[in-house]
Amino acid sequence: MYTCPEMRYLLWGGRPSKRNLITLAAVAIVLPTGALAFMQYQSLVDLKGKTKIAIEENLRQTLQSVARNAQGDMQTLARETLAPLGSLSRSPEDLKHTLGRASQLHPEVDQFFLFSTCSCKVENRFALLYSSEKLRRVSGPQLGADADVGRILDAYRSSLALRPPAESTRELLFWQQTCSVPNEASHSFFYVFYPLKNTDVAGLILNPQYVRKEYLNRLIPGLLRGSGTKGSESGLAVSVFDEKQNQIYANASGVKNYQVKMAFAPVFPNWDLAATYRGSSIQGVAQASFEKSLLLTAVVLCLLLVGIILTLRAASREMSLAAAKSSFVSNVSHELKTPLALIRLYAETLELDRVKDEQQGKDFLRTINGETRRLTQLINNILDFSKIEAGRKEYRFVSSDVAEIVETVLRTYEYQLRDAGFEVSTRIDQGLPMVAIDAEAISQAVVNLLNNATKYSEDAKKIEVAVAARDSHIAIEVADHGIGILRSEQQKIFEKFYRVSTTLVHNTKGSGLGLALVKHVVEAHGGRVLVDSELGRGSRFTILIPIPKTESAPKKAAAEIRGYPVEEGSHH
Ligand code: ADP
Repeated sequence: MYTCPEMRYLLWGGRPSKRNLITLAAVAIVLPTGALAFMQYQSLVDLKGKTKIAIEENLRQTLQSVARNAQGDMQTLARETLAPLGSLSRSPEDLKHTLGRASQLHPEVDQFFLFSTCSCKVENRFALLYSSEKLRRVSGPQLGADADVGRILDAYRSSLALRPPAESTRELLFWQQTCSVPNEASHSFFYVFYPLKNTDVAGLILNPQYVRKEYLNRLIPGLLRGSGTKGSESGLAVSVFDEKQNQIYANASGVKNYQVKMAFAPVFPNWDLAATYRGSSIQGVAQASFEKSLLLTAVVLCLLLVGIILTLRAASREMSLAAAKSSFVSNVSHELKTPLALIRLYAETLELDRVKDEQQGKDFLRTINGETRRLTQLINNILDFSKIEAGRKEYRFVSSDVAEIVETVLRTYEYQLRDAGFEVSTRIDQGLPMVAIDAEAISQAVVNLLNNATKYSEDAKKIEVAVAARDSHIAIEVADHGIGILRSEQQKIFEKFYRVSTTLVHNTKGSGLGLALVKHVVEAHGGRVLVDSELGRGSRFTILIPIPKTESAPKKAAAEIRGYPVEEGSHH
């Protein structure tokens, strides 16, 4: 059975690679995250619907509490004005006195009345009406003929018919009598009936102007404030519509569509209460909360994705580092083995005195010397690198002449370079300011650059070395005409263990530490390393060491030009 490498890696493990890592991330992280995001989206859509219902319910409850409060106000009014009446059996003077006080305290009441619902003889029945400080008694057969009493009794019967069966007979009853005259505003009369002792009933008629103009204006804002909802400020608009659907109260102007509407029962059953959120519909509010949650989810997902990408990048970097380390071991082993084998071979030849002539003996000794130097350089690099990694690398800064240091290096490697067929031209300015540097570290950095120039040159065996003052720096340049470096690789080559993966570089052994060390050394001096390279044309590495401000300007001296001149800014 064929399985693709990624699948094999997932199922049975194996050598990790970037591709495998991406497949693993896609299967193990991105897919579940995607599924989670989809589920989250679905639940947000679901929540949107529920939010709409919840908001509607909230509005409904607000309106119900308005209606309940109106009922409570009527109960208080009845308890203060009607309950003290006791029963019809009290003397008329007594009743008039009680009603007079109630009427003074509550000018919003147009009329008080008392009547009996007893089915005793017509002659014995009577009703009392009190308004404008006058108590009127209607009794016997006049009861049927009196228009006022007739209206009250009709209202009472209607309110009884509307009373829910479960409600106690001691509860208040309300009736709203609306008289509509075509083309004219309708008039409502508000009746409140309060059961007294036995079969007696007391009641009152509210002043309609008071209800419309004062009562609603007091009831609704007070209630919205009391419930912690700041009315129009909170965006909650509450309104009252009369029987002709004219708006008779609104806590906020300019609202056209109300989301929830219900009867203002039981006190004002012919009127409607309406509420909405101002500025936005319920759909709008639900949509806004949906979008907010969606945005939050998207942000969290983005953070998650960024986290995953960063983790993957770190993992991939670790993998590259691990691979670089393992190739480092094999490269270094090779680097050590080759010179050692050469040294042994030549030393044995010399020991057995098998050289043809004195010149050959000298050549052998020179090779041994050169190889030993190469080995020392490699070991120095590795030791320095391990010190840097452990944070133990120390520099001893001593005021030195950079030109002199570079010249010493060139002199030391002169023979080796010439022997390898390289033509080295130099342009080293004299009289440059002295700078505090670690001469050994800077020498090693220059040696590393020279080493690379020889390693990565093919047929064009020319190297240019220059030292000069440039702006407020001393610049050391090492240029070759070798294989060059791709632009995309030019920053990576300074990473530890990093080696460009072209065949030519692959064939040239190296540790991948040389440039990392150069960079570290130069940065420890407060400087920078620049690379200017073109594939197939060659490379120019520049070490810039800052000249401290206190140093005097370079003592300009004639540039000592030896061999091939390197012009400023010129390339290969
Ligand atoms: P190495 O031991 O591999 O030479 P370095 O850190 O010195 O390690 O260099 C890192 C990589 O940079 C090399 O493997 C090579 O690919 C590239 N490189 C460095 N110097 C040059 C150069 N002068 N010309 C071309 N490529 C170079």
